[in-house]
Amino acid sequence: MLRLGLTGGIGAGKSTVARRLVGLGAYLIDADVIAREVVAPGSPGLAQVAAEFGAEVLDPDGALDRPALAAVVFTDEDARTRLNAIVHPLVRHRTEEMLAAAPADGIVLQDIPLLVEGGMAAAFHLVLVVDAAVDERVRRLVGRGMTAEDARARIAAQADEAARRAVADVWLDNSGEPSVMHAELDKLWRDRLVPFESNLRNDRRSGYGPPRLAEPNPEWSSEYARLAARIRFACGDAVRTLDHIGSTSVPGLPAKDVLDIQLGVDSLDRADELVGALRGAGFVHWPSITRDTPKASVPDPEAWRKRLYINADPGRAANLHVRVVDSPGWRYALMFRDWLCADASARDEYLAAKRALAAAHATDRDTSAYAQAKEPWFDRTEPLAEAWARSTGWRPRLDGPHSE
Ligand code: ADP
Repeated sequence: MLRLGLTGGIGAGKSTVARRLVGLGAYLIDADVIAREVVAPGSPGLAQVAAEFGAEVLDPDGALDRPALAAVVFTDEDARTRLNAIVHPLVRHRTEEMLAAAPADGIVLQDIPLLVEGGMAAAFHLVLVVDAAVDERVRRLVGRGMTAEDARARIAAQADEAARRAVADVWLDNSGEPSVMHAELDKLWRDRLVPFESNLRNDRRSGYGPPRLAEPNPEWSSEYARLAARIRFACGDAVRTLDHIGSTSVPGLPAKDVLDIQLGVDSLDRADELVGALRGAGFVHWPSITRDTPKASVPDPEAWRKRLYINADPGRAANLHVRVVDSPGWRYALMFRDWLCADASARDEYLAAKRALAAAHATDRDTSAYAQAKEPWFDRTEPLAEAWARSTGWRPRLDGPHSE
């Protein structure tokens, strides 16, 4: 099952996007609908609300009088907490029921207006954010019967664009004609969502093709941060360290557009227990690779064992190396990154080596021969990196700036 979170500011077009995706086959769980359902007339939820806040929050028919309840909780934080303590567990429970009823091969779309405000992004395989220019949103809301003043006040009370951008894996600009958005959604569905779900269910990934170096992308660190938040959410206490490693973690260095992430765990057994959890973060286990190539400093191949997971999302190539904390491979990945960050000439040399090898392997089917061909460079430079580490007193940081 692929779980998508859909959010966006009021009037941006969430419902419009949700309708299109449902038309394409998504299974919709609408948080607003559930929030109304759990306090519908005759529901136990409504009885609890009435018991807590009195009959004045009910209308003459016994249904919830929303404006009356809003007036109570708007100015009283304690009342709001008590209301949430009733409603949130009911919404969560109903959401769980609907998730359990969704097809195993489904693409589930959870429409959650307050996804960003509620800090829920990491629970989804992808977060889709719908946006439109503020003036356009006000115009649409006025078209739905709201006053312009009310519309602007509601917009101002929600998360701002920067907060939404930070969690958006897919940014949907709905400022234009609906047909533009529809075409974009159709393509997203076909090229990303359907293959992502299928990869996840079948332990596959989409092909990366031959090695191709991309210019350094300032988005790489924010893309890493979103994946890291998912991994942390999915794996909980098993996460000892989590780092952006490899070339995409070195500012200014051209690299294959593939993020490398290192998850440090207590043991390989612990790594093996994470298969299900990591699928929840979008990563599938890649069993054909079980170790790194040993470096000269520690020739024993057994010491270089690891687990490799690969992002099943065809829209974001990423490798997750699960290594035991303090093992040679774990330490080397962190040292190599920090050495390249610190030493401009090492960076230049590494780039020259990568360029030559990428050119030599430009017509390969995949990147495995290229990766293998880089090993002699690592062997040759390992003593240089070690010398740098010694001279600077470098230690692997457990929670340095690169860690999440
Ligand atoms: P939300 O669910 O994000 O509050 P809706 O999907 O209900 O937003 O859209 C708000 C209003 O704007 C609706 O009346 C909808 O029909 C209209 N709308 C949505 N997308 C567009 C668009 N691209 N162009 C014009 N109007 C739109």
